[in-house]
Formats: sequence, structure tokens, C-alpha cells
Amino acid sequence: AMDIPDDHPRARSLEIREKLEEGYKSGLVTEMGLIAHGRGEAFDYLIDEKTIKESVYAIKVASKILNDSQNPVISVNGNTAALVPKVISDFTNETGINVEVNLFHRTEDRVRKIIKFLKEHGAGKVLGRNPGKRIPDLSHKRALVTKEGIYEADTVVVPLEDGDRTEKLIEMGKKVISIDLNPRSRTAQESSVTIVDNVVRAMPKLFEFYKEEPDVDIDEFDNEKNLEQIEAKIRRNKFGKD
Ligand code: ATP
Ligand code: MG
Repeated sequence: AMDIPDDHPRARSLEIREKLEEGYKSGLVTEMGLIAHGRGEAFDYLIDEKTIKESVYAIKVASKILNDSQNPVISVNGNTAALVPKVISDFTNETGINVEVNLFHRTEDRVRKIIKFLKEHGAGKVLGRNPGKRIPDLSHKRALVTKEGIYEADTVVVPLEDGDRTEKLIEMGKKVISIDLNPRSRTAQESSVTIVDNVVRAMPKLFEFYKEEPDVDIDEFDNEKNLEQIEAKIRRNKFGKD
């Protein structure tokens, strides 16, 4: 492993890269996953690598929606598994919310490895090994989902998702909560609630708020408006004290 000095200005960012590098070497993360991370990282730089207040608001709304859902599911891909395996495992174990491995570049070997990795971090049940259903009108193996998990879910949490699939999940009538650093991605634009934050910061906060059941009016939340405010903030590049 690299020796990252604590006082290095990009220490946290380098630690994250290191996790992805390890995840890549052990077969959890794909080359495309590494590239996708680069896109995310650039946006993270622009929000000062902090959970900005608009995203705290989105996380509160998301946690309330999760509390109100009948059958919520957290979708997990290679990058998410590599970055926050412990948070995902604790989240599902403590709340009973299902976790499903759902890959854009699906291979059975990678699904198996990701499930094994999550279980090594304590996860009990992890779905995704035997998908019996498809997301309608979506080509390739990326459409494969389980019946008890994503197929029948009323709410799906999708970290680092692809725009096409987000759109189809919405068309299926589901609420989609995305975690995506790019406020302009199709995923961000299509989701019911978009958390513009790094998954390494957003996922633990989502778990925390879920347990606290924050008092927030979900009907007042306007995702489009929240995204516009975030983009305006990025363009002004002034973050004040939030
Ligand atoms: P879309 O398909 O939604 O339009 P895209 O094609 O621009 O998005 P993809 O490569 O499909 O991007 O997905 C990667 C997305 O994940 C990017 O939007 C990127 O900002 C985001 N991302 C990457 N790493 C992280 C991370 N650690 N935390 C949060 N978001 C991330
Ligand atoms: Mg895409």
C-alpha cells in the first residue's frame, strides 16, 4: 500500500483511490469503474470534498422516504462495494433493508466476488446472485434483477448509477434515491432524490439519519431546484461556512 502522509492536501482522496485500486486488483471494480471514479472526483473537488448543505437536506429527505417505504432496496455495484463495504453491511444488518448486487458490466464471477467481499465485512443476506427478472426495455445483462429485491422494490437507492437504468426504474413506478457527485448526469436529473456527494460521506450519513428519523417535509422537497442550487454554488465557487 502507498504511504500517504496525513498532512497531504489530498490524503482522503488518495485513500479513496487506493481502495479502488485494491478493488480493481481483487476483481470487484472494472476499468470503467475506475474511469467513472475520475469523473466523480472532479466534481468532488468542486464541492470542496464536503457534504454541502443542499446534500444534507437531500439525505434527510431520502432517509425519510426510506423510513416510509414498504420494500426499499440498496443497489450495490463494484465501486460502492469497494468504497463502503462496512457501512453497507451494517446498514442492511441493522435495518433489514435488502442489499442487491446489480452491475452494469455484469459477470457472474464479479457478482460472486462482491457478495463475498460484503459478507467478509459482516453483511448477512445479499441479493443478486440469481436474478430471475429483468428491468423492462433495457438491453444487456445490466437489466438483470431479483424479484424480491429491485424488481419489487418501491424505493431503490442507487449510488453511482447509470442514467438509462435510473430512467427505467422511474418508469417502473419506483422512487429512486441516487448518490452522484455530478449534478448534471442523467442519473442526477432523473432521480426522485439526488444526493450530490461522495458515496464515502453520503452513505454513512444516510444510515445515521435513517436511524434518527429526521423531521422533514418530503412534499416540500424539489429535486430540480435543489440541483440548480448546487450547480449555482459550484459555478460561484463560494461555499461559505456550510
Ligand atoms: P449518467 O449515465 O447518469 O448520465 P455518466 O454517464 O456521466 O452518468 P457514469 O460513468 O455512467 O457517468 O457513472 C458514474 C457517475 O458516478 C458519475 O456521474 C460520477 O460523477 C459518479 N461518481 C463516481 N464516483 C463517485 C463517488 N465516489 N461518489 C459519488 N458519485 C460518484
Ligand atoms: Mg452513463
